[in-house]
Amino acid sequence: MSEEKSLNFIEEIISQDLAAGKYKSILTRFPPEPNGYLHIGHAKSICLNFGLAKSFGGSTNLRFDDTNPAKEDIEYVDSIKEDVKWLGFEWVKECYASDYFDQLYSFAVQLIEKGLAYVDDSSAEEIAQQKGTPTVPGTGNAFRNRSIPENLELFAGMKAGKYADGEKVLRAKIDLASPNMHMRDPLLYRIKRAHHHRTGDAWCIYPMYDFAHGQSDSIENITHSVCTLEFIPHRALYDWGIEQLGIYPSHQYEFARLNMTYTVMSKRKLLQLVEEGHVESWDDPRMPTISGMRRRGYTPESIRDFCDRIGIAKRENIIDFSLLEFCVREHLNKVAQRRMVVTNPIKLVITNFDKGEEILHSENNPEDPNAGTRDVPFSNELWIEREDFMEEPTKKYFRLGPGLSVRLKSAYIVTCESFEKDEAGNITKVFASYNPDSKSGQDTSGIHVKGTLHWVSAKHAVPVTLNEYDRLFSVEDLSSADGDFKDYINPNSLKAVKAFAEPALVNDTLDARFQFLRKGYFYQDKNSTKDNLIFNRTVGLKDAWAKEQKK
Ligand code: ATP
Ligand code: MG
Repeated sequence: MSEEKSLNFIEEIISQDLAAGKYKSILTRFPPEPNGYLHIGHAKSICLNFGLAKSFGGSTNLRFDDTNPAKEDIEYVDSIKEDVKWLGFEWVKECYASDYFDQLYSFAVQLIEKGLAYVDDSSAEEIAQQKGTPTVPGTGNAFRNRSIPENLELFAGMKAGKYADGEKVLRAKIDLASPNMHMRDPLLYRIKRAHHHRTGDAWCIYPMYDFAHGQSDSIENITHSVCTLEFIPHRALYDWGIEQLGIYPSHQYEFARLNMTYTVMSKRKLLQLVEEGHVESWDDPRMPTISGMRRRGYTPESIRDFCDRIGIAKRENIIDFSLLEFCVREHLNKVAQRRMVVTNPIKLVITNFDKGEEILHSENNPEDPNAGTRDVPFSNELWIEREDFMEEPTKKYFRLGPGLSVRLKSAYIVTCESFEKDEAGNITKVFASYNPDSKSGQDTSGIHVKGTLHWVSAKHAVPVTLNEYDRLFSVEDLSSADGDFKDYINPNSLKAVKAFAEPALVNDTLDARFQFLRKGYFYQDKNSTKDNLIFNRTVGLKDAWAKEQKK
């Protein structure tokens, strides 16, 4: 454990436990339900669980909490494994709650034998009604007094498929007057005929979350079971199960879940976005899913850094999305290759360049001396940005205009001589001369200019598509917004822009990270090909957006 950083409250507990000799080593788990793709909230839980184990020399299980067959699928299992690996973590064991179905069944039988569980024939509504309210104790029903042999027989019948879905449930017999509603005879098993992605049709009864989660922790000998705050009221039941069954004493600890501005973070809602076609897929680059962020160009390092910076708390809060963007910008600045791309082109003719072409060299990353240089062809016809030319330049305009000089990045200083317009008054061409003594890196011209422009040689230019993204939702705090969250979808969250790029991009690898000069950080989309290059904007260069908000 590094001493420089103060420990968070869970690290405190673990270091005390280890100091007291309570455990030889710790074992944590990350327990997703395979009913959707992981999102950035899960990344926080992954970084925490795997991070704790790493810091304290322990290990972590990946456990699929697959007790709800109707909504679960192998596609989700595969995506979850890919995402955890991509984030940079390794599990020591891949576990499935469904592998414990026999064991869980026998735990339930043990509870019945101890007079601590019973079969109830009531409907869900009746059970809810009989449960009382936090201030009014629940009322029992006649089923509560069933004998042990009768309960054993009925429960076996449930398993054997004698009853219809929902006809009976198994409940714990705890305390109908408990101030904790979760202790008022919670359900342990329900009848549900649904095909399970691993156990097929072997079972028609499935354990409830509260009779699978803690028990699975014990079966695996998890030492520290970390979950989110909404499970605090479940903790008494977690402990009750361990005590009554006499199984390994895992302990549950709770931290605040991650909430972020401008997004939703529930698999159920994200599934709706996919199914109703508001986004293309789970890995749509606008999604807060790990797969979406990967496709957009986020790096695992930046997500881990983000999780580290937000730390863990015992109270819910909402984190500004721009913090995550700050983290990815920081990392990409260090690793991204610089390239030149022009989006809204205007032709710049170099009137005194008669060499046909010249191959120049441009540094790939000024932050990284080892990143080397690349070839950039220069010729007498270039594309520059339309916004980089002004017919009647204002005083502080340091780009191109009649009589003005600028440096073309990694090339020469050019001076604008004239321009051409079409009938509608739009500029069609700009003419300039270059100074042969001003070549970047070998400049003996003695001329000083304030502006540097990016450019692309017209005859070498490659057409590309840039996907420019904006927030998927237009309100900051969706949890307190009225009505349906989908009412707040930003209709302009994706803009596909045609552009001209320097030819180096054609031969770059698919997973290279780029900074397109003055435009932002970009990553090649998975559907990009050499003939149809598509780049997703990961994040802009500056947090212009946050500044805008403060105005
Ligand atoms: P969702 O509501 O999105 O489906 P969930 O909690 O039901 O989330 P699980 O698959 O059960 O999803 O979660 C696996 C683990 O990830 C759990 O331990 C859960 O507490 C944690 N987790 C889920 N969402 C967040 C979040 N926003 N912040 C931190 N941890 C989270
Ligand atoms: Mg869940």
